[in-house]
Amino acid sequence: MGDCNVVLELLFVIVIAILFGIYRELVQKKYKKDMRELLVQVEEKNSLLKRLSTTDKLTGLNNRIKIDEVLKSDLNMFKRYENVFSVILIDIDHFKKVNDNHGHPVGDEVLKQFAKILKNSARITDTIGRWGGEEFMIIASETDSIGATKFATIIKQAINEHSFPRVGRVTASFGLSQICVGDSIEDVVHRADLALYTAKKNGRNKVVCGR
Ligand code: GH3
Ligand code: MG
Ligand code: MG
Repeated sequence: MGDCNVVLELLFVIVIAILFGIYRELVQKKYKKDMRELLVQVEEKNSLLKRLSTTDKLTGLNNRIKIDEVLKSDLNMFKRYENVFSVILIDIDHFKKVNDNHGHPVGDEVLKQFAKILKNSARITDTIGRWGGEEFMIIASETDSIGATKFATIIKQAINEHSFPRVGRVTASFGLSQICVGDSIEDVVHRADLALYTAKKNGRNKVVCGR
């Protein structure tokens, strides 16, 4: 009788140990699954944050932070592999008048549609961003000043042909420059800016090459 009790107690302990093992396994599985889901959520939030921090809110284009990043990396590629690139600065002509005549929300809509035209005109390898206010920048990779001039002229044409709601025709001026040996980022952007100034001075709705 005593032996029987010991066997039963032993069996009981074994059953409890097995049940505990199963329970622990289940808990660990659930924990691992929860952790995996949490990790996916964190990664999604991280990439959303990264996208928001480099995107212009109004136009959805790259913002200044992203443009600076690309300029730096393209300059490094140029120094190492001589991969030439060009910078195109674009400024909407007489944009203040759009706001004054039609109001700020209409001006905002023009900026959005303008950005869309730039996006639709660019190649996948180009970086398009809002440089500030009604100014935009395109970094045209693997493109010299001749190619960039052709490219800017095509964009100018697309803008000229577009009818903006309430406003109608809008024009823009383009200044561009190709990266040269010994340039800093400021040098190439400065030449593009000078070219843009010349385009404005020469009557606007023009493409001017800085070199
Ligand atoms: P120019 O041909 O010489 O470039 O003349 P402009 O009128 O385009 O240039 P100006 O610098 O005198 O005016 C730019 C205007 O752009 C003034 C500013 O209120 C407007 N602007 C800047 N950012 C925004 C924006 O986010 N939304 C709207 N609606 N207007 C903006
Ligand atoms: Mg301006
Ligand atoms: Mg302007």
